[in-house]
Amino acid sequence: MDLITTDASPVLPALEAPWADEVRAHPTMLADIAHAVGGPFHVLYPEQFGDNVLALRAALRDAGVGGGVYFGKKANKSGCWLPECARTGAGVDVASEPELVHALAGGVRGADLVVTGAAKKDSLLWLAIRHQCLIAVDALDELDRVIEAAKRTGVARIQLRVLPPPDPASRFGLDPAELDEALHRCVRASGHVEMEGFSFHLNGYRVPPRARLAAELVDRCVRARALGLAAGSVDIGGGFAVSYVDEEHWRAYADGHQDGWFHAGKRFSHFYPYHQAPTGAAMLAAILRSEVDGGGTVAEKFAATGTRMLMEPGRALLDRTGFSAFPVQGLKRRGGYAIATVGGLSMSVSEQWKNSEFLPDPVLWPNTGRHEPVGVCVGGASCMEYDMLTWRKVPMPRQPEPGDLLVYPNTSGYQMDKNETEFHQLPLPSRVVVDRADGTLRWRLDR
Ligand SMILES: *Cc1c(COP(=O)(O)O)cnc(C)c1O
Repeated sequence: MDLITTDASPVLPALEAPWADEVRAHPTMLADIAHAVGGPFHVLYPEQFGDNVLALRAALRDAGVGGGVYFGKKANKSGCWLPECARTGAGVDVASEPELVHALAGGVRGADLVVTGAAKKDSLLWLAIRHQCLIAVDALDELDRVIEAAKRTGVARIQLRVLPPPDPASRFGLDPAELDEALHRCVRASGHVEMEGFSFHLNGYRVPPRARLAAELVDRCVRARALGLAAGSVDIGGGFAVSYVDEEHWRAYADGHQDGWFHAGKRFSHFYPYHQAPTGAAMLAAILRSEVDGGGTVAEKFAATGTRMLMEPGRALLDRTGFSAFPVQGLKRRGGYAIATVGGLSMSVSEQWKNSEFLPDPVLWPNTGRHEPVGVCVGGASCMEYDMLTWRKVPMPRQPEPGDLLVYPNTSGYQMDKNETEFHQLPLPSRVVVDRADGTLRWRLDR
């Protein structure tokens, strides 16, 4: 048999949680699910999500800082995370009425929601006030609409979103002059709005700009308290880093990158940094122990002023909580590599829609058959030339065959359903929730 490996890229094996290996090693589970749903599907494991929440909460507690975690809901639409938020004491960051209602229906109380987004419509503001949600006010005219709604409806809990100095071109947040004006309007509207603090959401995944801005906003809280406002919290937003592959594999890939590793010589404008450090709760701990101007750490500054630290992680709470499985429908050879076509569309691997690619290796399942390595890229079941789930020629132990699955690891954070569509009137992938009963794995459809 010819071993065709010349065209393959280096391997990028995904870092995964033990549950994912357990599900794939289970004698019947994946085959049963594939048979039951008859198409592509996402597998979700909420218990890992809960563990991720608890790790962040522990980092706050260990640093002696009060505060809380809001799940940035836009990163995944499934309902199965919401009872985990309720169980672990997390809130949810929502940006639309359907997201708000979904969070309530999932058991998260209105007082544990923060409503973010630009220029929120009046009906969303009204709903947020009715349910005592915290509202992140993004502009002065929005503040006026909140105050008007509060006069008719009840006290509005708000935080003021800050235009972050490290991202001066951002369309979000209030600049320093607008912040001063907003504070005065809050003072005048006391009795209608409760100004609870400040928030920001930064691009990128770096610790220092978050530490610096968080510390600066503690000072702003202290000054706002002198005006008679509550100003008890700083919300540092999301952007907690995630590592999908280990450093060694990522470096070998990034340093050696060649266009020839991709079908049709495809080029990309950028890639997510698939290896990063620190990540998740370790990144929060690094923010908390960062030194601030004037001495001491971020944590000490929050603790000394009795300021609570809030955050809105999306991707980081979903790390290693799910994977996506696509049934192989066909295979063709192209020179030194193969193209597998799967049931499903590249819209279900959202990175493809940002002129980028989700790089962790898809895994061929089942892991059986003769070892005959080949580089494989993966196309979707549409008529579009560009509908490729994976342009990279991924080294696989044998060629995929109809009846196999290609499993995309760690896809819950933004990959699964940010851009999914029913193109060709194909149904969206099914969602399967896995948990344990008496220690035994079992599955159900997500509601
Ligand atoms: C998207 C978003 C988040 C979540 O960002 P992650 O990078 O997924 O952590 C948090 N807050 C706001 C305001 C957002 O827009």
